[in-house]
Amino acid sequence: MRDDVKIALVTGASRGIGRSIATKLVEHGYFVVGTATTQAGADEIGESLGDAGAGRQLDVQDDASVGALFTGLRDAPGMPLVLVNNAGITRDNLMLRMSVDEWTTVVDTNLNGLFRVTKPVLRGMLRARWGRIVNVSSVVARMGSPGQSNYVASKSAVEGFTRSLAQEVASRGITINAVAPGFVATDMTAELTEAQIQQMLSRVPLGRMGSAEDIAEAVAFLVSDKAGYITGETIHVNGGLYMA
Ligand code: NAP
Repeated sequence: MRDDVKIALVTGASRGIGRSIATKLVEHGYFVVGTATTQAGADEIGESLGDAGAGRQLDVQDDASVGALFTGLRDAPGMPLVLVNNAGITRDNLMLRMSVDEWTTVVDTNLNGLFRVTKPVLRGMLRARWGRIVNVSSVVARMGSPGQSNYVASKSAVEGFTRSLAQEVASRGITINAVAPGFVATDMTAELTEAQIQQMLSRVPLGRMGSAEDIAEAVAFLVSDKAGYITGETIHVNGGLYMA
């Protein structure tokens, strides 16, 4: 790998939006480390990225797994100057029926996981006086969504975290932003019925679900030098579903 090639770490790169972000960042010249929760998933990422990247196993809920990831990265290929916190899950239920486990698992993955992964990359970025962090939020962080209080709480917190950390590290050339997707066709939305999809699309002015690539394009812009004067911001990519 050439010295001037930046390393980008993309969590949850085995499928959906994360996979598309990883592919897009390779196209933009980054060396991409993409993660999956299983070793088989990590191997598959490594095969698909070829010489331009690598796959690693990561469970953002597990401190030991996060520690092992960064111990390995320090050896090779090195610590990332670009981080995309994409890994996320839903466990939908109405509040009256929501179990402690459904609440805790979502918050621990989507919010605490972001803390676990972001903290270790900061030192290298501070030293380089350059860094880019993009956190994948959701349109529902602003809109609210019945049956998703756990998920919405976690994603709203991600946006608040983004604004606060942006102010902490801005003087060192590090930007941190969020991208908030609308309804995107991935495994996460695959369980919706045709009727639910049509009902949802009736609220989207652009009249279609988003693609993972729509989201990847916004992320690629935010991690580029062209976006150097944008920090603490949330960019909405939702076909007009929500206009802030
Ligand atoms: P997806 O297709 O379900 O993929 C989820 C990814 O996260 C997978 O790579 C999965 O790895 C990884 N992951 C799950 N639990 C993890 C854990 N504990 N540790 C590390 N990685 C974990 O989801 P998606 O639709 O692409 O969503 C990606 C992001 O976009 C999420 O943050 C989601 O909240 C957000 N988002 C999605 C939509 C949408 O409509 N799809 C809308 C708004 C926001 P494995 O493959 O190994 O399980």
